Amino acid sequence: MASSPSSPGASLKLDFLIVGGGIAGLAAAYILAKGGHQVRVLEKSSTLDLPASGIRVPPNLSKVLREWIGEEKLASLTSLNQGTPLYDLLTSRRKGYNPWKPVVMRETGGDFLLMHRADAHKVLYDLAISAGVRVDFSVNVASVEPGEPRPRITLANGQCFTADIVIGADGPCSTVRRTAFELENDLEPTGMVVYSGTISAQKLLKDPVLASFIQADEWPIFMGTNRSVCCHPVRGRKELAVQLFWPDERRPKGQDPHGPWQNVVATSELRLDDCGDIVKRMVKLIPFFVKTPWMKRKSPLEDWVDDSGRIVLMGEAAHPWLPGGTHSSSMAVEDAVVFGTLFSHLAQGDQIPIFLHAYHELREARNKTVKDKDVESFEVMWLPPGPARDARDANTPSEDEDVDEGMLKEQFDALLEIFGYNAADAAQEWWMDWGRLSQARESKARYRLVDYMKK
Ligand SMILES: Cc1cc2nc3c(=O)[nH]c(=O)nc-3n(C[C@H](O)[C@H](O)[C@H](O)COP(=O)(O)OP(=O)(O)OC[C@H]3O[C@@H](n4cnc5c(N)ncnc54)[C@H](O)[C@@H]3O)c2cc1C
Repeated sequence: MASSPSSPGASLKLDFLIVGGGIAGLAAAYILAKGGHQVRVLEKSSTLDLPASGIRVPPNLSKVLREWIGEEKLASLTSLNQGTPLYDLLTSRRKGYNPWKPVVMRETGGDFLLMHRADAHKVLYDLAISAGVRVDFSVNVASVEPGEPRPRITLANGQCFTADIVIGADGPCSTVRRTAFELENDLEPTGMVVYSGTISAQKLLKDPVLASFIQADEWPIFMGTNRSVCCHPVRGRKELAVQLFWPDERRPKGQDPHGPWQNVVATSELRLDDCGDIVKRMVKLIPFFVKTPWMKRKSPLEDWVDDSGRIVLMGEAAHPWLPGGTHSSSMAVEDAVVFGTLFSHLAQGDQIPIFLHAYHELREARNKTVKDKDVESFEVMWLPPGPARDARDANTPSEDEDVDEGMLKEQFDALLEIFGYNAADAAQEWWMDWGRLSQARESKARYRLVDYMKK
């Protein structure tokens, strides 16, 4: 630890090691380095250039990216999502339209955007490097232990490192969670998988019906029985990202031997009997898919901070998500922003456990609220025939329904809680209400902090 009151950010600077250079790891690396800390990222993959498809960038994420890279650069890498046309998967018939009115979105402080995961990853990598972060590729972390006095990382090749704080941002099958928290991997397959792929615009534009999907600022969804398909433009309309939420017909109960987002499968693996002409034509143009099972934990993690108070989990390592869900990346970046904002105030060593636990408190509740809503909004798209599906269809906004002010207000109120959230403000608010007191020596202040920790 080094104290340097004259430089910007935290006056007590720490050494951070981050396991996993995905979305959460790189976002955390950037914001911590910007706050004056020393940060090194250890990433298992050998390159940034891995197969991926689309991610949704809802307003709670787009406002962070806009602040970090500017409006113009963000616009060059994304498309706007102005609405979701809803189709019947089997007949390809259009059943309704769910508007994502830009005027409503802007009220939440950001736009609803659509992006390629690799572009988001590269943006975060470039930011981290520009802030002085060291990112090491092809580094497979085998275990993390509390160590004394600093946590210790051991690589698969036997090499060891120590740091003031280790962040486990190593995805849903987290090695940090398994080794430092001594918790068995209790992820269980739900029986659903997500097939993700992309189609080049060149191929799509040859088919006049498919061409419209890359030309519109939309995120269409095809709703079927126990399956659904969604797609949207990415990379300045050079590609269409396609994701199929499917029952795992090949391996309904078994464990996936591949890591998440690593299982490349041939398009021919998919049975398309329950799909109409549009999706069949679309899928034929996809050269390959990445197949990722949707796994759920048997029991949620009780504490995201280990007993030593120096190892902490972030992103999907702390809270696995529905692959391809709307908020998997936004929650990872929000985690990083809250964490980095808190640690930008670090002035003395005894604040470390307080900040770590505040991060857990702030993020656990937020993640739970958003995850429940995200999962619900996807599950409704693949309902089997029955009363629930009838109710969904009856409530689907029709194609030409005028969106009046009352409806806009209703949409806004429902979305404000999720899209209107500002991660930096949430952390800053905690700092103003509780955190500043950790610098005060009076016993009264200490008492209030202890109160907060017990909440
Ligand atoms: C290659 C890839 C492609 C993806 N494509 C999509 C997509 O198209 N659409 C979508 O919605 N989501 C996609 N995701 C998932 C999405 O990035 C996450 O759901 C979300 O952003 C949460 O981010 P995270 O940082 O928690 O996890 P991730 O972004 O998955 O990052 C975890 C990182 O940890 C690394 N790691 C794991 N174990 C170790 C270890 N032992 N040592 C060192 N490093 C380790 C992984 O290689 C990975 O880079 C993809 C993830 C990956 C890794």
